[in-house]
Amino acid sequence: MNVLIYIESENGAPKKSALEAVAYGAEIAKGQVVALASSDTATADLGNYGADKVLQFAVSGKLEASQVAELVAQAAEAQNAEVVIFAKSILNDLAAPMVGIKLGASVASNVIEKPDFSKGFVVKRSVFSGKAFTEVALNNAKKVLTIKKNAVAMTEKGKTAAVESFSPAITASPVQIKETTQKTGDILLTDADIVVSGGRGLKGPEHWGMIEELAKTLHAATGCSKPVSDMDWRPHHEHVGQTGIKVSPNLYVAVGISGAIQHLAGVSSSKTIVVINKDADAPFFKAADYGIVGDAFDIIPKLTEALKKAM
Ligand SMILES: Cc1cc2nc3c(=O)[nH]c(=O)nc-3n(C[C@H](O)[C@H](O)[C@H](O)COP(=O)(O)OP(=O)(O)OC[C@H]3O[C@@H](n4cnc5c(N)ncnc54)[C@H](O)[C@@H]3O)c2cc1C
Repeated sequence: MNVLIYIESENGAPKKSALEAVAYGAEIAKGQVVALASSDTATADLGNYGADKVLQFAVSGKLEASQVAELVAQAAEAQNAEVVIFAKSILNDLAAPMVGIKLGASVASNVIEKPDFSKGFVVKRSVFSGKAFTEVALNNAKKVLTIKKNAVAMTEKGKTAAVESFSPAITASPVQIKETTQKTGDILLTDADIVVSGGRGLKGPEHWGMIEELAKTLHAATGCSKPVSDMDWRPHHEHVGQTGIKVSPNLYVAVGISGAIQHLAGVSSSKTIVVINKDADAPFFKAADYGIVGDAFDIIPKLTEALKKAM
């Protein structure tokens, strides 16, 4: 069973979530593990996390979902791949079902564990914003999976992947995409390993400097609760929760956020949650791994200074 993994890259390197997808592919493959990456993507890590081969395609500009789908479907046919793997992302969530249609494959998104082969090909998926799990049997000969971020342990294999070039025939014309502006150097909320979020407890936009300083110190992205973005204290793309962005970082730091169920829906699959709130009865503490009861205006500057010294 050959496995093909589509690699999303950033600044010439595979995204961490793409390497997790490679590690997942290496765990389940019973044949070749092929990574499909643009020719300007560094290949060393792809081999190191389990790819036998890197299929390189030349890029001219950014591909959108229907173009990615064409590219991946053609590569899957060329490599006789039975399983196609994507890391979950906004682009890949659109492309994966299109690949499923092109290949006549069973599709499962948000996969969090290796398939149970004893039952055929049964995968566990995270559903309802991480509040529940479901098991899905994929019965078609070909399968397309998207893997949830941080769900896979990455093991270095120390391999070097062979590199081969691939020239797909892409006929899909790009759709018009309105890109939201992202300042250079910002860490994308959905990709971040660490997120520092602020809520209404911060009283106003003029106090966000301390949140940004803490985030910068931790190399984290910044997020916020819904009322904060509704009041235009922060941009809407930072709004985390049921009606906003769902994050699953290794560390989520919530400052002055009460922990309403709609906010928790967006953060519940974070590995570790730290809550800073002056109200000891704030509901967020029930979901927290670590909590600090106190005034954010005292704690955050001290915490940032201590972290700067320690790092
Ligand atoms: C349909 C629907 C969808 C929704 N979707 C979302 C969503 O996606 N995301 C979301 O976030 N919300 C969402 N909400 C809103 C949600 O119900 C809450 O109202 C919201 O999350 C509360 O935001 P908050 O915690 O910032 O503010 P508050 O509830 O006002 O809480 C502020 C917190 O700050 C603490 N605090 C105050 N001062 C300090 C201080 N100096 N230091 C430390 N702590 C302090 C307080 O103790 C309090 O716990 C939704 C609501 C509805 C009805």
